[in-house]
Amino acid sequence: MTTTLRRIDLRGRDLDPVTLRGVVPRAELDVSAAVDAVRPICEAVRERGTAAVLEYTERFDGVRLTSLRVPAAAIGAALAALDPAVRAALEETIRRVRTVQRGLRREDSVTRVVPGGTVTERWVPVRRVGLYVPGGIAVYPSSVVMNVVPAQEAGVASIAVTSPAQREFGGLPHPTVLAACALLGVDEVYSAGGAQAVAMFAYGARDADGTLVVAPVDVVTGPGNVYVAAAKRYVQGVVGIDAEAGPTDIAVLADDTADAAHVAADLISQAEHDTLAAAVLVTPSQRLADAVDAELAAQVAATKHSERIRAALAGRQSAVVLVDDVEAGLAVVDAYAAEHLEVQTADARAVAARVRNAGAVFVGPHSPVSLGDYCAGSNHILPTGGSACHSGGLGVQTFLRGIHVVDYSAEALREVAGHVVALAEAEDLPAHGQAVTARFA
Ligand code: NAD
Repeated sequence: MTTTLRRIDLRGRDLDPVTLRGVVPRAELDVSAAVDAVRPICEAVRERGTAAVLEYTERFDGVRLTSLRVPAAAIGAALAALDPAVRAALEETIRRVRTVQRGLRREDSVTRVVPGGTVTERWVPVRRVGLYVPGGIAVYPSSVVMNVVPAQEAGVASIAVTSPAQREFGGLPHPTVLAACALLGVDEVYSAGGAQAVAMFAYGARDADGTLVVAPVDVVTGPGNVYVAAAKRYVQGVVGIDAEAGPTDIAVLADDTADAAHVAADLISQAEHDTLAAAVLVTPSQRLADAVDAELAAQVAATKHSERIRAALAGRQSAVVLVDDVEAGLAVVDAYAAEHLEVQTADARAVAARVRNAGAVFVGPHSPVSLGDYCAGSNHILPTGGSACHSGGLGVQTFLRGIHVVDYSAEALREVAGHVVALAEAEDLPAHGQAVTARFA
């Protein structure tokens, strides 16, 4: 299999933003079809609780468990056995993500609309959340941090984490996932993955004798595969969800000043996630495109997951897009709305400041995407599949609701009463108007 990225040549073509949106196709991922597959799973969990979760865990993860809840002793043991270098790295990641999230907490705001009339927006955390940490192809202790820290900084009182049962670890989630939970002080952890885990959080789960084992949550967040995304879509409305995550993607907007070896390394680093991952280079420089191809050939051969990476780079979702200039490249990356966008151009800060659509932007030669995956302090749970044009990444706001608190005096109400009555009559809802005028009869 070749490592050369296919080329899409847009030079000399002046395409409108809607056409540009389709220029680089996304990986085939049919969440709608997967919703049909997960509907019976979610309904079985809703009706039969823990028994159904345990059955699907046996079917999909190959482990027959007797209990979903991870014992406290197992969480403590995982932390005790954690490699000290990984522990130090996780602690630093937690510190940085917490520093950023703490600064993002919105303050309540009071607006005096008229004398005697105020509207206050109070930011109130949801009470309980269920956080999904994937664990099929790879394990993601970093995703524990990215889910849990924003929920903690939002002030969520009850935090539960779930991650797929791992056969080689006696049916527990991966030990580094458990150790990350321990470092964050999370002790409610379940061995469950896929759609059954999402449904378990959305509906809650009882044993056959009626004992409540998993209390239902208000919000489910976290990345996962197509079944996790489909289950989140299915239960949305019963619970809140964050953005539906699909396969990861990276776009690099680069010009002649970029280092081809570094651009190639960054494209490879996201392709490493998944055969459906997308790696897209947008550049006005044919010289850079050729040099990146040469680097990909050399670097992919030398990396551990070369087969997975080759498949991702060869997929229709990955490409080099040749453009006339950086300006045209900006239009392409805005239309693409990458989950991760690197800007490696001359004056990268000025170019990055003009980006409108991206999950996260990585500026200049020393801000590679893998820094953001782990230790930048930014969140790595980001909108994929082009949804960055309407959604942002996971953060404290995901777990907060803005509640408008309306407080008017008699005078302030009297002053506006006529307008309320006029609008109520225009909508043929006269009782609305009477509710106001009754106060001044
Ligand atoms: P996963 O935990 O999402 O999925 C594993 C579960 O899928 C299993 O527990 C099983 O229950 C279920 N499953 C497997 N086959 C099934 C089938 N045929 N029918 C129904 N359910 C089935 O782990 P994964 O598969 O490794 O996927 C993780 C995804 O998350 C990857 O695409 C990765 O790129 C992505 N990810 C994204 C981010 C981000 O921040 N955007 C971070 C980490 C991971």
